[in-house]
Amino acid sequence: MRQERKKERDKAAISLVLCFSVIAIASVFTVKSSIDKLNLQNLSDPEPLPQQEQPVTQQIPTVDSQEHENSDARGNTAYEIPLSGSIITEFSADTPVYSKTLDQYMTHYGVDIKAPLDTQVKAVAAGTVTKVYTDDKYGITIEINHGDGLTSVYSNLSTGSMVEVSDVVEKGQVISGVGDTSLFESLEESHLHFEMHKDGTPVDPKTYLEF
Ligand SMILES: [Zn+2]
Repeated sequence: MRQERKKERDKAAISLVLCFSVIAIASVFTVKSSIDKLNLQNLSDPEPLPQQEQPVTQQIPTVDSQEHENSDARGNTAYEIPLSGSIITEFSADTPVYSKTLDQYMTHYGVDIKAPLDTQVKAVAAGTVTKVYTDDKYGITIEINHGDGLTSVYSNLSTGSMVEVSDVVEKGQVISGVGDTSLFESLEESHLHFEMHKDGTPVDPKTYLEF
């Protein structure tokens, strides 16, 4: 009987040891997983910092390059000349220039591009036709809105029947031809009177176009 009791005690002791072992192993695993988590956090913690820094340094050149693209677009790449030819009368908003037709000095809010009669006149950029009319001074005139406050104005045209108001035109689309409909410039050589307006104010087309 004594021996059996001892066996039972031994069993109980073994069970206790086993229990402690299980608890010990379990706590080791718990601690280990906690350490692993900490390690993971430690590993993942430093990462966001360089990640946050990188976009900042990357964004700066991105913004820069966008600005360059915009300035390029506003410079020479986005607009094409309406026709090829030499400029016979420059843009002159401040200093009056001599008008052969009127025999007097006057301001000139565009450029006169020399070209034979009926030379095709093309839209300098994509846009929407906003006006087609006959101007008292500059004859048959077409205006195209390109957005961003920019409008191109083509005068002394041969016809106003190729496009209509609210037509959407592509860059390089033929909208008319060179005519002799301008009373103010009728004694000049055959030419296109061409203006560009920024927010309603005439600007030198050379700002946007290379002639
Ligand atoms: Zn002119």
